[in-house]
Amino acid sequence: MDLDLSPEHELVRQTVRDFARDRVAPVAEELDRERRFPYELVTELAGLGLMGMPIPEQYGGGGTDTVSYAIAIEELTRVDSSVAITVAAHTSLGTMPIYLFGSEEQKQRWLPDLASGRKLAAFGLTEPGAGSDAGNARTTAELRDGAWVVNGSKIFITNAGTDVTWGVTLTARTGEDEISNIVVPNGTAGYEISPPMHKLGWNASDTRELSFRECAVPEDHLLGPRGKGFHQFLEILDGGRISVAAMGVGLAQGCYDQAFAYAQERQQFGKPISKFQAVQFKLADMATEIECGRALVYKAAWLKDQGRPFAREAAMAKLYTGEMSNRAVNWALQIHGGYGFTEEFPISRFYRDQKILEIGEGTNEVQRMVIAKHLGL
Ligand SMILES: Cc1cc2nc3c(=O)[nH]c(=O)nc-3n(C[C@H](O)[C@H](O)[C@H](O)COP(=O)(O)OP(=O)(O)OC[C@H]3O[C@@H](n4cnc5c(N)ncnc54)[C@H](O)[C@@H]3O)c2cc1C
Repeated sequence: MDLDLSPEHELVRQTVRDFARDRVAPVAEELDRERRFPYELVTELAGLGLMGMPIPEQYGGGGTDTVSYAIAIEELTRVDSSVAITVAAHTSLGTMPIYLFGSEEQKQRWLPDLASGRKLAAFGLTEPGAGSDAGNARTTAELRDGAWVVNGSKIFITNAGTDVTWGVTLTARTGEDEISNIVVPNGTAGYEISPPMHKLGWNASDTRELSFRECAVPEDHLLGPRGKGFHQFLEILDGGRISVAAMGVGLAQGCYDQAFAYAQERQQFGKPISKFQAVQFKLADMATEIECGRALVYKAAWLKDQGRPFAREAAMAKLYTGEMSNRAVNWALQIHGGYGFTEEFPISRFYRDQKILEIGEGTNEVQRMVIAKHLGL
């Protein structure tokens, strides 16, 4: 057994860590406050080859393994969640369906722009009436005169409405008991995108409601075989969970870093608060739980890279890191005392950004349902 990361993995970590510290950290507060999408950072991330890491080089991607990708997402989230989710949603949710289910012609047509980061992609699964029960989607796509005509709506869709968004892959009913995935490019007639949704956190990330009225796309915008959409989206969510779990580890690590530093500086009762055992125990618990979470994430990513089943481990990693990052951010803010409740320190942004990690890509309850199913229950 070898628990050491390879030199390539370490290089990814160092590269992304430097980028996050030098380029993201200085602007993260401002982007969050102004609810401004990080266009400049996306261009720079694309330049570093970080917008399509797990997509093979022949399609314009980085050709890296999943462990490298998880490390990159972890390091970005350690500094800012909005930037991290922009990359993660584009890669795991937006681009992956094309790579995994697209025909060779579709891959050649769409992937180079996406994997290089010139364009962003979105994945439209959730609907106002179908969240955890995503298979209950009501959006329809009807084949008429060589075109799929889409009617319905989607909600909470990440990256759907930026100036550089290419389009959305959406799940739609193509028959009575039949779900398929269909690509709808931005700008298609009948496809309307709401203004950005106002959220508790992830303020610099783009989240939209989408509506489709008699929205027609060519027949060859169907991804994979007709009727396979249910299994396809489950597969996409399995992979996506690794990146959201990596966000949980990164966010918790960022919380730990801030609380550790603050505890050395802040003096009360004539000494740094880090000298009080109650504070030390919180940091010790955080460090321990972060190690557990990281091990779960890397194991799920490693299994995926070996071509082995990883859905159970991905759900475990997502569940554990979601709840673990909740504890970490709570303790880290507590260590900051009243200053943590102000905007003077980034910890308050981390506190707002954390909660969604227990909701998106399947809630904690949904992860438990997935794990229980894998346990044979
Ligand atoms: C900022 C943000 C970005 C997002 N990005 C995307 C995106 O890019 N693409 C996309 O498709 N979706 C996206 N989502 C949607 C997200 O995946 C859903 O919000 C999530 O799956 C939960 O669905 P819901 O909000 O409808 O909650 P619901 O399903 O209504 O759940 C409400 C509560 O009921 C619980 N519950 C539901 N069913 C059960 C059950 N059987 N047993 C026990 N408890 C249950 C849930 O766990 C939860 O606590 C995003 C959401 C947000 C907020």
